[in-house]
Amino acid sequence: MPSFDIQIGPTRGRHRRRTFRMSPCENCHAGCCRAFAVPLTGADILRIERGLNLSFWDFACRWADPVGQIAQQYAPHFYFDDEPGTPFVIALMHRVSEVFPETTCCRFLTEGVPNETQPLGQSHCGIYDIRPAACRVFPTKFNATGELALIQDIPDRTREGDNAIYDLCSRQWEPSDLDPVQPLHDLIIARYEMQFFHQLAEQWNQEPRPWEIFPDFLRLIYSQRLMRESATTVPTHSAATPDLTQSPDDAPTVLSFPDVERQSRAA
Ligand code: SF4
Ligand code: SF4
Repeated sequence: MPSFDIQIGPTRGRHRRRTFRMSPCENCHAGCCRAFAVPLTGADILRIERGLNLSFWDFACRWADPVGQIAQQYAPHFYFDDEPGTPFVIALMHRVSEVFPETTCCRFLTEGVPNETQPLGQSHCGIYDIRPAACRVFPTKFNATGELALIQDIPDRTREGDNAIYDLCSRQWEPSDLDPVQPLHDLIIARYEMQFFHQLAEQWNQEPRPWEIFPDFLRLIYSQRLMRESATTVPTHSAATPDLTQSPDDAPTVLSFPDVERQSRAA
């Protein structure tokens, strides 16, 4: 299982109104949702599909990432048989901005109309409650031991070009901007799900297949993440992901937990 720290927080929508301090996201044009490509996990994909009754093809895409600028040691690279030498990151789709048509933004961003006091408009996440883990954790990451959430320093802008719509937060974040508990919970889930997604990528990349069947692969893997205790198998090939290359005849040995315990005691 690969280990990694969350180095980036690709994007985040506007926070809900907080009582203790005005969030930097209040009144923001959501530069983060325009400047970043948001890596997805399989769990993010299933949650959005079910929450909005959308198909994978409505919101997910693969972004070529030859130098790792999108993955940034956070998201896994996937390979596909039509471009075997190109590493891809599975990410949220961008669309052309309705308000600033020379720019792009996350396809779920709800854009506000600019006015005199807010020349870039005031935009917010259209799927706040089911937004991807990468959006939830921004701008935090774990410290080296995974006990603390660190607030990252935000650059003025990360996307090339001089369009101010891609500007990020108008000020640096402070601990008092965030709930003291929720960021750690979000980071734990983000890391857990992204680690699982790395395992899944390892398996997929052993024999890259067509991009068209990737959503079916995802659904198959995730449909096997929940089972009754009495039906639990002990995979021989990986800690968590089933081996799709095996036929039912050479499936891994099935051991119930009591059997495993007896074997451990006998050892
Ligand atoms: S899902 Fe929401 S928070 Fe994430 S990039 Fe899109 S609009 Fe922004
Ligand atoms: S750019 Fe910064 S302040 Fe603006 S919505 Fe994104 S995280 Fe919030």
